[in-house]
Amino acid sequence: MNYDRYYTCDLVNGEGVRVTLFVTGCQHACEGCYNPATWDRKAGRPFTDAAREELLAHCAHHDGLSLSGGDPLHPANRADILELCRLFKARYPGKNIWLWTGYQYEEVAELDIMRFVDVVIDGKYRRDLPTVQPWRGSDNQRLIRLRGE
Ligand code: SF4
Repeated sequence: MNYDRYYTCDLVNGEGVRVTLFVTGCQHACEGCYNPATWDRKAGRPFTDAAREELLAHCAHHDGLSLSGGDPLHPANRADILELCRLFKARYPGKNIWLWTGYQYEEVAELDIMRFVDVVIDGKYRRDLPTVQPWRGSDNQRLIRLRGE
């Protein structure tokens, strides 16, 4: 898996103060996508073990981890995202994971990754369906709380 960037002290991608990782790789090709540079899964930098460890260390000082892109659930990203989620929850069992994906939740509900994710924002971006709902890009997207409050 490659990634484009990550933010620490992020206040806009989920509740609280978060670490937000933007991976590369997305097959959804939403019209009006805010981040087309991340479609190519070869773009960005390799998410090495060292990069993962650095990111996880940042999470000690934040409320949770947010996974965005690109699509963290691009088939080529799933193994690395699963391992990241597993390690995050092992180290920070009281903290949460939010995940944005262009898939419908029903398409990915059976993935092992979902055993670790607390909140999913699902569905393709629809430029024709603007929204004022927090954390969503368009009104068709759902915020689904899988566990927690
Ligand atoms: S799912 Fe997200 S990254 Fe992928 S094309 Fe749609 S808006 Fe862009």
